[in-house]
Amino acid sequence: MSLKDLAKEVCDLARADGNVDLLEKAAKLMVAVTDLHYENFQLKEKLMKQDAWDEQKKRYKLTTPWKGDSAAVVYAVKESYKETETAHWACPKCYDDGRRSILQPNKAGEFIWLICATCNTKISTSFRSINAAEYVAD
Ligand SMILES: [Zn+2]
Repeated sequence: MSLKDLAKEVCDLARADGNVDLLEKAAKLMVAVTDLHYENFQLKEKLMKQDAWDEQKKRYKLTTPWKGDSAAVVYAVKESYKETETAHWACPKCYDDGRRSILQPNKAGEFIWLICATCNTKISTSFRSINAAEYVAD
C-alpha cells in the first residue's frame, strides 16, 4: 500500500468515525502526502534530466578551433564518439547551463560567426571562411 493510499484510508476512517478533529488532521495529512508525492515526482524527473545531461556532456571537450585573433572557445565532439555523433560545435554558455545547443555558422559582414539559436550567443571566428566542424582528441 502506498503512502498516498494509506493517507486516503485514514481520511476515510476519520470521516466514517465522525470525529471532526481527526478528520481535519487526516485531511491535512492527505494534503502533506500529496505534496510529498508531487515533490518526489519532480525530483525524480530532475534527476533523470541531470543523468541524461551528464551522459551527453561526456561527448564534448572544450576547444579553440580557430587560432586567429578571437581564439574563440567552443565545445566539439570527441573522436571516441564519431561513430554515433556528427561533428559539430556546441555553445559553451548552453553547456554551462546544462543543455546542448549546436552552433550554426553565419556570415555577418566579412567574417563568420557561430550563432546559438537557444541563447543567442554570437561567437566570432575572426575568419572569412571556416572548415566544417572536426572531432577533437579525447
Ligand atoms: Zn547557447
